[in-house]
Amino acid sequence: MSQYPEPLEKLIKELKKLPSIGQRTAERLAFYLLNQPEENAMLLSQAVLDLKTKIRLCRECFNFSEEELCTICKDGHRDRSMICVISHPPELWKIERCNGYHGLYHVLGGLISPVNDVHPEDLHIDGLMRRIEGGAVQEVILALDPKVEGEATSMYLARRIKTYGISTTRIAQGVPIGRDLEFADELTLNRALQGRVSI
Ligand SMILES: [Zn+2]
Repeated sequence: MSQYPEPLEKLIKELKKLPSIGQRTAERLAFYLLNQPEENAMLLSQAVLDLKTKIRLCRECFNFSEEELCTICKDGHRDRSMICVISHPPELWKIERCNGYHGLYHVLGGLISPVNDVHPEDLHIDGLMRRIEGGAVQEVILALDPKVEGEATSMYLARRIKTYGISTTRIAQGVPIGRDLEFADELTLNRALQGRVSI
């Protein structure tokens, strides 16, 4: 079987590395791009490059940000007495779209998982403790996956937060969170935030 020209092969190979893109889809996308004006290809490649060069992690909450502090941490109208802890940034944006939460966030960057060699020091946990030590925080809401790793992480955090004498809650159980949080509908998520319980 004869091969595609080298640049086309190369693009197909890169596209196939993306989630849910197989050989057929990669080929279709590559041919589509090939038929686009050069300007569109430039815009796409520049957008991909900008992701890596213009986005960093917020110094406070570890959300994706263009500046040292993200738009949420900079926003003077947010309730600074509450921090909602999540594992990854997409979950933050899902909660934001619900419009029912006006506190701050803290992104852990994963969940504690000894089997995968992820320990508390590999996550942004010390950063969370520093924020709590700052004194303005009155409640930490844990919105982590209710499965094993999320549970272990929640318990670990609750134990450490307790030493500061502030309230630790978790969003209502039975709500798909963690990786599934991205797919939870907004009403369910708002209800889960309203129905949070102390731990
Ligand atoms: Zn931030």
